[in-house]
Amino acid sequence: MSRKLLAFLLSELTTIRIICSRDVCRAVTEVTPDRFEAVASRGMCPVCNHDLIPSSSHNSNSPFLKLAQAIAASQAILAKEGTAQIEFVLPDEE
Ligand SMILES: [Zn+2]
Repeated sequence: MSRKLLAFLLSELTTIRIICSRDVCRAVTEVTPDRFEAVASRGMCPVCNHDLIPSSSHNSNSPFLKLAQAIAASQAILAKEGTAQIEFVLPDEE
């Protein structure tokens, strides 16, 4: 049995989709990695203002915000320093 894999480098990540889980919205917001932090820091759907994370997590320790900051900072550092590449691998289930 062979499996296909989809792999991409962090440096190749150009678009992040934030998908609102509110049934009446389901908006898909696409942002570039450097704009992700702005959406993450707000913590709300740009379309319906639904909380994207629990309201108790709307602070500087928000994992959503940390993820956004880590992606942007890692892309910038790795592009500048070239010390490593980070690759994400997704199995393509058939
Ligand atoms: Zn929404």
